[in-house]
Amino acid sequence: MVKETKFYDTLGVSPTASEQELKKAYKTGALKYHPDKNTHNPAAEDKFKEISHAYEILSDTQKRSVYDQYGEAGLEGGGAGGGMAAEDLFAQFFGGGSFGGGLGGMFGGGGMQSRGPPKARTIHHTHKVSLEDIYRGKVSKLALQRSIICPKCEGRGGKDGAVRRCHGCDGQGMKTMMRQMGPMIQRFQTVCPDCNGEGEIIREKDRCKQCNGKKTVVDRKVLHVHVDRGVRSGTKVEFRGEGDQAPGIQAGDVVFEIEEKPHTRFQRKEDDLFHQADIELVTALAGGTIYVEHLDDRWLSVEILPGEAISQGTVKMVRGQGMPSPRHHNTGNLFLQFNIKFPEKNWTVDPSHFNALRAILPSPALTAIAPPGAMTEPADLEELDSQAQGRAFGGQGMDEDEDGHPHGERVQCASQ
Ligand SMILES: [Zn+2]
Ligand SMILES: [Zn+2]
Repeated sequence: MVKETKFYDTLGVSPTASEQELKKAYKTGALKYHPDKNTHNPAAEDKFKEISHAYEILSDTQKRSVYDQYGEAGLEGGGAGGGMAAEDLFAQFFGGGSFGGGLGGMFGGGGMQSRGPPKARTIHHTHKVSLEDIYRGKVSKLALQRSIICPKCEGRGGKDGAVRRCHGCDGQGMKTMMRQMGPMIQRFQTVCPDCNGEGEIIREKDRCKQCNGKKTVVDRKVLHVHVDRGVRSGTKVEFRGEGDQAPGIQAGDVVFEIEEKPHTRFQRKEDDLFHQADIELVTALAGGTIYVEHLDDRWLSVEILPGEAISQGTVKMVRGQGMPSPRHHNTGNLFLQFNIKFPEKNWTVDPSHFNALRAILPSPALTAIAPPGAMTEPADLEELDSQAQGRAFGGQGMDEDEDGHPHGERVQCASQ
């Protein structure tokens, strides 16, 4: 005995109605009273909402059980929640596919939002690309494993007529069971044991030999992914309908997300490139040519003018030698930051060399000389290893790389 029958009456079914009957009643009523079909009958919208609400409660086995025992009042505290908007329920029912048997796991998002036919889930893949390939552009051939409709049985799973609707669950894949718990009758849903949730049964001997009755087989597909010149990380390349197939639903999409691999010589910021350029002290002072290997096997030759006196950390720009912009309107620039390579310790011991340098280079600036009459005291320099050097000025303006080497040290590690 149920406490009240209002929701059942709204749908025009008896309190003993099966899930199937409820579904049918909702379908009929919702289609009949949907506001889109009743623009001249404002009362239809209320009816549509009532039907939707009644179905929402009764199609939920737990809510239905509460309603049967305590009536509508019981639902207030019984987890009725805010309830779903009638339109959403309608969209889910007719467009979503989550009520369909067996295929539940195949559906991706979008069931609620889109009202089109249900679709297999999208296959996402990250495609890592070198900066060289992004600079030049390329087409990557990527092999993909996907399910396709079995070509032998054309997705039927067996010979024509071999597939039978499962009687145990009436083709739903799910079964409602009842359990008596004291005074309560509990309804709960479970995967149909007869068909393992498939909703249908094919006898062993009638099963398609190629897919063993599964209706789909695994297929290898090669897709050509265009890596456009100058493409940015995060760009998505989409192949509509090239993903998984399954009977009765739209084939899924495949989406490749381009990810730029880190580069040893260049860092990229949008369309600009950044490169640490090593330069010998003599070149920095007396001029000369340095070469920068670009991303397409060209070597840029960069002239340092005599007397330019490039100092450590100086940044200069080479216009137009950055990355091509994604739409090729303009090319970025190449920024060079100079690392001065000093000679090795004891590079010469010939006093005449030092005298020659003293004669050539500017004299020490006045700021480096103690003022006249100042008290001076000799102080000795001690050697520090590179780690100790890094620690001494760590985080205080001295650039360190990941090994904790101070700037000058990194130049040697990284120079090619
Ligand atoms: Zn087959
Ligand atoms: Zn079944």
